[in-house]
Amino acid sequence: MKYIQEAFDTNWIAPLGTNVDKFEEELCEYVGVDHGLALSSGTAGIHLALKYFGVGPGDYVFCSDLTFAGSCNPILYQYANPVFIDSEPETWNMSPIALEKAFEWAKKENKMPKAVIIVDLYGQSADYDLLLPICEKYDVPVIEDAAEALGATYKGKKCGSFGHIGIFSFNGNKIITTSGGGMVVSNDEEAIKKMRFWATQSREPAKHYEHKEVGYNYRMSNICAGIGRGQLRVLNDRIAAKKKIREFYEIALKSYPINFIPISANSEANYWLTVITIEEKCPLKPDDLIGILEVENIESRPVWKPMSLQPLFNTHKYFSHSKEENVGFMLFEKGICLPSGSNLREDQLTKIITLVSEQLEVL
Ligand SMILES: *Cc1c(COP(=O)(O)O)cnc(C)c1O
Repeated sequence: MKYIQEAFDTNWIAPLGTNVDKFEEELCEYVGVDHGLALSSGTAGIHLALKYFGVGPGDYVFCSDLTFAGSCNPILYQYANPVFIDSEPETWNMSPIALEKAFEWAKKENKMPKAVIIVDLYGQSADYDLLLPICEKYDVPVIEDAAEALGATYKGKKCGSFGHIGIFSFNGNKIITTSGGGMVVSNDEEAIKKMRFWATQSREPAKHYEHKEVGYNYRMSNICAGIGRGQLRVLNDRIAAKKKIREFYEIALKSYPINFIPISANSEANYWLTVITIEEKCPLKPDDLIGILEVENIESRPVWKPMSLQPLFNTHKYFSHSKEENVGFMLFEKGICLPSGSNLREDQLTKIITLVSEQLEVL
């Protein structure tokens, strides 16, 4: 409220001002990158990053298959072709095996991608020590979609800092929010400068309004940035609260036929959502459990439906983790995101656990 009040007191009710500058600085310092650009959404960030790497009509872009559509819709904005890469079972993130297969195909077919979008799913880092060398070998830049992973780390380094360009989202459902918003971050100052130009309607430096390139209205409001600055101050508390929620579920549901989203030894997650999968032998379907919780006015969600299964994207190329294994499809079939809000009380968690365990016990 203090930062928002400041915006009003100084009359900076605009998509620029002190809060925007400071939010960019403060977030970059937290993540450990040099430059940031606050935007109206994370999706806008991915769009600008694709444009920066010269993605245009007919080009190819690789993207994690198990993700939210915001990761890959911008590929279509540029009239390019997405190629979807399956998950691996260890972190549910992009499979290095599937990525290598996709590159071999691209090389043979002369369809080298202009960029690879790697998602840090559900608040956990992808395995960058395996993925980045593959992209380097083929000399293709990485866009890290860390929309869900602010505060998570991989081998001590923060998510968002692994790609040439990283993006964050501050949509209402993310670990911190500005009501709606996003940020691109990079150590490449020129890249941020160029994206800032496009995000501000590509206004040339002239007194009159001069335009040589197409532009976008993608900047973040100074009011929203004020919310973001306040939210940054509670981020570490949120992570701690969410970690506790996961532990609470894990202990209480230990003896049931479910598995929790694995936490890799290489990473510290931000525990954005606690996700479980129902074991193969158990006939209970995610939709059944979601319905039972809904009756009690408790919201839970299925795992993201893989992009290669979406009517919008299912004509595009897809590479699985192995011949027999479509890891993402299996996770979608058997996965549920449990309520994970950092303000959940112990009595509420207990109620959820009771309802879930009752269903698993019947079987
Ligand atoms: C939320 C999300 C986005 C899109 O961010 P917006 O700010 O909603 O545009 C992109 N990718 C992933 C993985 C997300 O979860």
